[in-house]
Amino acid sequence: MDTILIIEDEPAIADNVAYALETEGFRTRRVRLGAEGIEILRNEPIGLVILDVGLPDGNGFEFCKTIRSFSDVPVVFLTARSDEVDRVVGLEIGADDYVVKPFSPRELSARVKAILKRAGPVSTDAAAPDFEVDRDGHSVRYRGQALVLTRSELMILTLLLEQPGRVFSRRQIMERVWDVPDMSQERAVDTHIKTLRAKLRDVAPEFDPIRTHRGLGYSLAGNRS
Ligand code: CA
Repeated sequence: MDTILIIEDEPAIADNVAYALETEGFRTRRVRLGAEGIEILRNEPIGLVILDVGLPDGNGFEFCKTIRSFSDVPVVFLTARSDEVDRVVGLEIGADDYVVKPFSPRELSARVKAILKRAGPVSTDAAAPDFEVDRDGHSVRYRGQALVLTRSELMILTLLLEQPGRVFSRRQIMERVWDVPDMSQERAVDTHIKTLRAKLRDVAPEFDPIRTHRGLGYSLAGNRS
């Protein structure tokens, strides 16, 4: 089940949101500062963000833009005033939905479920059943958890996922990831693979789905053998 990050400075509201979502079986994490939320999003798999517009360390709209600079995680705004809704909807800040305070917990969890369903797994390759790539190819779930990946990590992983079991050379990986591959930078591929592996290991410590083929390149394991 997805972990939902609640970024809200008012404890009573955060309590309400967490309670509503936990009742539906979601795991929740709570922070009261936007900066704390960004830090978590950069480092942990989060399925959806509930983001308050008025936070002690800044404006939720700005935090949303920051989130969008590195992640496609769904964002639902909590707004205190209905006149803020125009901004949420009108400005292209990449939010997925909004809820106006005071809100009903049932309404909130219904919205969250609808968004996760919409954003949810679309293509699951039978040869790599642990992975689910979203419709746009912008995010990948691994064993049900959304991965927070850099652009390079995402490009490498989706390339490997195109043909599980096939060995891709560093050159092939570079050509996919960088517009102008620089062969002196081959080691960069290894670096991205290393950080990608670390993120996969966070989800499933006992299994490494990326195989290293010495002198040849990398492949994605087709199954859990
Ligand atoms: Ca607030």
